[in-house]
Amino acid sequence: MPMPARVYAPTPANLRRLAKALRRGDLVAIPTETVYGLAAHALDPKACRAIFRAKRRPANDPLIVHVLDLSRAEDLAVFNPAARRLARRFWPGPLTLVLPKKSGVPGIVTSSGPTVAIRAPAHPLARRLLRLAEIPLAAPSANLFGYISPTTAAHVRAGLGTRIPHILDGGACAMGVESTVLDMTDPKRPRVLRPGVVTAAQLRQFLGVKVHDAKSRSPRARQRAPGMLERHYSPRTPLVLRHPEAQPPAGVAIVRLRMPGAKPGQHVFWLSRRGALTEIARNLYGVLRQADAGGYRQIWVEPLPVESGGLAATINDRLRRAAAKR
Ligand code: AMP
Ligand code: MG
Repeated sequence: MPMPARVYAPTPANLRRLAKALRRGDLVAIPTETVYGLAAHALDPKACRAIFRAKRRPANDPLIVHVLDLSRAEDLAVFNPAARRLARRFWPGPLTLVLPKKSGVPGIVTSSGPTVAIRAPAHPLARRLLRLAEIPLAAPSANLFGYISPTTAAHVRAGLGTRIPHILDGGACAMGVESTVLDMTDPKRPRVLRPGVVTAAQLRQFLGVKVHDAKSRSPRARQRAPGMLERHYSPRTPLVLRHPEAQPPAGVAIVRLRMPGAKPGQHVFWLSRRGALTEIARNLYGVLRQADAGGYRQIWVEPLPVESGGLAATINDRLRRAAAKR
């Protein structure tokens, strides 16, 4: 039996210990403001390979590199003026920029591609680790490939508890869905490869140019967004997007957007009290995991009413992928 992961409280001594572990090439699951990440020394190909093994992630799905700030990011990626402006406005925060990579970035991080995805996380513990370790950290979500991303240390342990040595417990993630991935290799044609917390509308307004979105599923668009699979973020129980009925059939869990007014039924879960999008995003993955653990035949999830863009579109994107057929 492999050793179970040790879960660390975020004390100064533990943070120093984990920073050292990262420097020597260990994997450490860390909290970020989006979801928990499985971090490794981004300039150590062996450490990065261990991420793919632990997650059972295919090698053609590149990793996001986490740095403290823009000046460290410029050591790893070639910034254009527009990308620099974005970093100054949205970092630290949930915006990942895809840019031409510099030669120091190992091929394992970028799936041998010419670009690297990079962001500065806002979570204070992630930042303290980055500062102590003084290395960039490659970190995809800390879950087995294809499953629901973790938003608590307990979620990480449930999936990877026998596959990684260290988990830093920073409580529940504030945002609960993954970062926006924006391709800025051509500053005249910014392209959202993955919708996230920062919305296309915000980016368009800030940049003053049209921002293309990843909706076009053309082969070319797919090529530019490696790893963006139709089916992803999925519970084991089949998930169906449909409007809720008063009486679900036996063996079906119902996930509603807001707390039912009447007495909730036994197999009813809800994502927020009154329907606030930020609360729905924060609770989404935890509630899906709960429903998945309930032994149901199916999970019926209420989709967000309109594709009003923004966070609603991001949540619907994740729900659609979670519902996609195997
Ligand atoms: P994860 O960290 O698990 O949320 O996944 C990171 C995602 O970022 C990948 O699945 C890709 O879709 C995207 N990504 C990472 N690196 C690149 C890159 N160089 N070019 C385009 N997309 C990337
Ligand atoms: Mg992931």
